[in-house]
Amino acid sequence: MSSDVRVRFAPSPTGFLHIGGARTVLFNWLYAKHTGGTLVLRIEDTDRARNTQEAAQAIYDGLRWLGLNWDEGPEASGDHGPYFQSEREAIYQSYLDKLRAANRVYDDAGSIRFRFAREKVVVDDVICGHIEFDMASSETNPDMTIRRADGSWIFHFVNVVDDIEMKISHVIRGEDHLSNTPKHIQLYRAFGATPPRFAHIPLILNKDGSKMSKRDQGASLNTYIDGGYLPEAVRNYLCLLGWSPKDNREKIDLKEVVRLFELEKVHRKNAAFDLEKCTWLNGEYVRELSDERFHSLARQALEKAGFDLSTFPPDYVRAALDTCNGKFKIFSELPGYCGFYFKDDFELNPDGVAKHFVAENKPRLLAVREAFAGLDNFDAAKLETGLKATAAQLNVKVGALVHPTRLAVTGTNAGPSLYHLLEILGKDRVLARIDRALNLLPG
Ligand code: GLU
Repeated sequence: MSSDVRVRFAPSPTGFLHIGGARTVLFNWLYAKHTGGTLVLRIEDTDRARNTQEAAQAIYDGLRWLGLNWDEGPEASGDHGPYFQSEREAIYQSYLDKLRAANRVYDDAGSIRFRFAREKVVVDDVICGHIEFDMASSETNPDMTIRRADGSWIFHFVNVVDDIEMKISHVIRGEDHLSNTPKHIQLYRAFGATPPRFAHIPLILNKDGSKMSKRDQGASLNTYIDGGYLPEAVRNYLCLLGWSPKDNREKIDLKEVVRLFELEKVHRKNAAFDLEKCTWLNGEYVRELSDERFHSLARQALEKAGFDLSTFPPDYVRAALDTCNGKFKIFSELPGYCGFYFKDDFELNPDGVAKHFVAENKPRLLAVREAFAGLDNFDAAKLETGLKATAAQLNVKVGALVHPTRLAVTGTNAGPSLYHLLEILGKDRVLARIDRALNLLPG
C-alpha cells in the first residue's frame, strides 16, 4: 500500500533522544505505517553551536534501537534532501526572496521580520480541534523575526519552508508547538502553499503533574538503552502515552497498534509518565523472550557489570540464568540478582546478617551443612528433602533453615529458588560458603 501521506520527525539535535521525541517519532511512524505513507527524518540543526554529527548520531541510534525506520532522511535515500537544515541555505534564501517580492518582510536592526496578516487564524487540529487565534493586534502578536542579525534562521521559517519543500501532508508533533501553529499557517499562506494537517499530541507529564523536562528521571532514551530495557517494551509503553486501544489493554503487539492507530483517537488530555509501569511492562516482555535471546541479553548484562562468564562452563551459565528467567523486570537487575553464581567474594546483606546470622542459628546451619555433605546426589529434590528432614529433627520451621542457608550461599534473602540454585552451585561451593558463614556466626 502506498499513499500520499508524508510525515516527518524533525528533531533539533541535543545529544540524546528525549522520551517526548521518541514518542513523537513513534506516533509519526505509526501513522505512516497505518496509512502506507512515508516517514521523513529531518535534522533541525540551525543552532550551529552544537556538534551536529554526534548529536544526530544519538538520534539515529535511538530510533534504530526502538526499531523505528525512516524512509527518507540522513542515512536513507530520498528526493527531498538535503535532510539537514544546515545544508539548505540556498532554499531558505529563495523562500526569503519570495517573501521580499510579496512585500512580506522588512529589515529591523539587521534582523529580518515577517509581516503578519492582521487577521484571525483558525487551526483545525486533528487532535485538539478547532482553535481560533486572533492575530489582529501587533501588540500581542508582533511581526516575527525569521532571520537573526547574524544571518541564522529562526525555527518557524525554516520549519515551514522544509515542510513545504518536503511535501509534508501531516505535521504530528508535541502540543508545545500548538501556539506556534497560527504563525506557521501565516507563512504557508504568504508562500501561497496549502498548510498540512496538524495533529498536536498531548504533553508528557511527570507523575506529580509537572511537565517532563530533559533532566527528569526516565527522560532520556539512554536510561532504557543502558538500563537493560527491551526496545519492544519501551516502544509499547510509548504507544500508551497519549493513545490506547479501546479495551485499554496495556501489553499490545506493535502490528496491532499499527492496524488500530488513528490520529483522531489520540487522547486530548496530557499523558502521565510512569517509569514503574514501563518497568513492569518490560518484565512482561522479558518473560516471553525466546531462550536464545534471553540468554544473550542476560550474558550481555552480566558482562557489562564486569563478570567474565567465559571462565565458567557453558552449561553452568545456562542453568544459572534459567533460574532467573521470569524473576526480574529489567536486565540491569540481573547482576545483583544472580551475581553470586559467578563470584565467591560477594557481600552479605547487612540486614540479613543482623537477622539471620545469630547464635541460635549456628547449630542449625551446621546441621544443614552435615545433611548436605552427606548427599551423594546434589540435586534439588534431594536437597529439599534433606533440608526438610533436618528441620523436622531440630523441631524448627523450614524457614528457620532456609533463610540462614540462602544468606550464606547467595549473600541476600531474595533470589532464585533455593534448592535449584544449590544444585547449580554444586556441593563444593555450597559447603565452602556455609563454612565461611559459620565462621561469621556468633557462638
Ligand atoms: N525542531 C522542532 C522541535 O524539535 C520541530 C518541531 C516540529 O515538529 O515542527 O521541537
